[in-house]
Amino acid sequence: LYAPERTNSRGLDLADPDALSALDDALVRARERPWRATAVVGGREVGGPEREIRNPSDRRETIGLVREADAALVPEAFGLAADAQPAWDSSGGAARAERLDAAGEALEAAMPELAGLIVREGGRTLADAVAEVREAVDACRYYAARARREFAAPERLPGPTGESNELWLRGRGVFACISPWNFPVAIFTGQVAAALAAGNAVVAKPARQTPLAAAHVIRLLHGAGIPADVLHFLPGSGGRLGNALLADPRLAGVAFTGSTETAWTLQQRLAERRSAIVPLIAETGGQNALIADSSALAEQLVPDVIASAFDSAGQRCSALRVLFVQTDIADRVLDLLADAMGELTIGDPVRLSTDIGPVIDDDAVRALLPHDSRMRADARVLREMSLPPGTEHGSFFAPRVFELDRLDRLDREVFGPILHVIRYEGGALDRVIDAVNATGYGLTLGVHSRIESTWQRVRERARAGNVYVNRNMIGAVVGVQPFGGEGLSGTGPKAGGPHYLRRFAVERAVTVNT
Ligand code: GLU
Repeated sequence: LYAPERTNSRGLDLADPDALSALDDALVRARERPWRATAVVGGREVGGPEREIRNPSDRRETIGLVREADAALVPEAFGLAADAQPAWDSSGGAARAERLDAAGEALEAAMPELAGLIVREGGRTLADAVAEVREAVDACRYYAARARREFAAPERLPGPTGESNELWLRGRGVFACISPWNFPVAIFTGQVAAALAAGNAVVAKPARQTPLAAAHVIRLLHGAGIPADVLHFLPGSGGRLGNALLADPRLAGVAFTGSTETAWTLQQRLAERRSAIVPLIAETGGQNALIADSSALAEQLVPDVIASAFDSAGQRCSALRVLFVQTDIADRVLDLLADAMGELTIGDPVRLSTDIGPVIDDDAVRALLPHDSRMRADARVLREMSLPPGTEHGSFFAPRVFELDRLDRLDREVFGPILHVIRYEGGALDRVIDAVNATGYGLTLGVHSRIESTWQRVRERARAGNVYVNRNMIGAVVGVQPFGGEGLSGTGPKAGGPHYLRRFAVERAVTVNT
């Protein structure tokens, strides 16, 4: 029987006019506030070279200032964290859970300003921002519940008469949490909350592009009672801080979400260490496919394709990159898809009517261009939206769809609103699944089919961490769809799942001859 350990965050109903006007007021107030991020080490704010954070929807607008941390701060943060960690660990799962529940409350109460920051610093839509804050709240509550269950008392194991055996889970030490810009609040909070719940101290480094939202989360977590010596914050670039973080001998583990390439670099740095051997928990990219057979309902499939490929401007690691559609229904599906794209609104996500906001910055636009040119040479352009007036000062990239003949024309993940379509013949399902497996990525996989044996086949044969049948492929909910992949997509365990905290812990078996 499923007995929930806690309930998911209540969020905000964007169809409710009162809720919407409260959010609107908060967005205006957030606009007036000068947001700041500085390093926070032992509760002390430490200055550094100043940099402006610009709105990706309109680069002329400054949202706030970050004073980036210097690598010289890393040893100080680790020193304080390492000193504080044993007491935090000994306080036990129940005491830590109480603080994390309070943190969840604080984040939930701060929903409007956090959502405002996510929209303006991260360029995400309002609906995505609200969902993201909910995910952060859920992460605090879920890991609190797991800490109560797994870290409050040892597991008793059998043994001969006169012997007691206990298995304890304890924190590893100091974790480095390195998070991405695409979920500046949810993934940042999720990593930190998990590491803390398991009894670790944390040195958190947010993405260089989104330090303001992360800094606000840190303020809220400290305010909710997470001790300042246990949680430290170092905004700055991976290039500047990464080596120092990974080389520190007190490092006990790394939680990382970002590109596969960066995960390789982190793995290499860890291999060079001549101190404790520590785990890397990496959640990386995907070459995610959706397979639609001839029984799929085109009217249901197309909105799910649109959401999966273009929500968050395609900047989710779960996003759909390749739609395999059975030849019999392909023309109809692609016509409907082209029409549906015509209904999408590109623009500033501060407006509720916006479906597609900007990508994170101009570098992200530039990174998409070589692939776009290659597709124009090698593939057929099925549909290309154009950018409306008013987007010229932002980092916008119009959604587009290319038709390809083979999957191996795509060599790596393309992180933006570009969808690829490949037709396949009936009877070729296994070959399609094998081709998807052969990419080496294994994050999300969608299936649209009314034939049960088709999705059973896919579930059995596909090597993907999250399989979604007859729905979209994004927006995994904490405790409901544990999220994460395999192969090039990451190490596991899955975030928001029952096995996550264990990877942040050591196991100690204690045998007493009584
Ligand atoms: N968990 C998110 C989702 O299900 C994706 C996370 C990511 O992009 O890293 O859409």
